[in-house]
Amino acid sequence: MICELCGADVPRTRRVIVEGTPLNVCTSCSKFGVTPQKGEEQKVSPIVSRLERSRRRFRPRDV
Ligand SMILES: [Zn+2]
Repeated sequence: MICELCGADVPRTRRVIVEGTPLNVCTSCSKFGVTPQKGEEQKVSPIVSRLERSRRRFRPRDV
């Protein structure tokens, strides 16, 4: 299968959302996108969910 991001020929691709566009990419490129949640592919903006995730990561450390 061909990675739609870097064009590499890989045995399997992963479907991720990159800047709002669903792409089939190789595993190394999949970190540049977000994995769509079941049924939420159209609903959640990937940028917003990424921001919320990093914000949540900081909170427990803030003691
Ligand atoms: Zn790739």
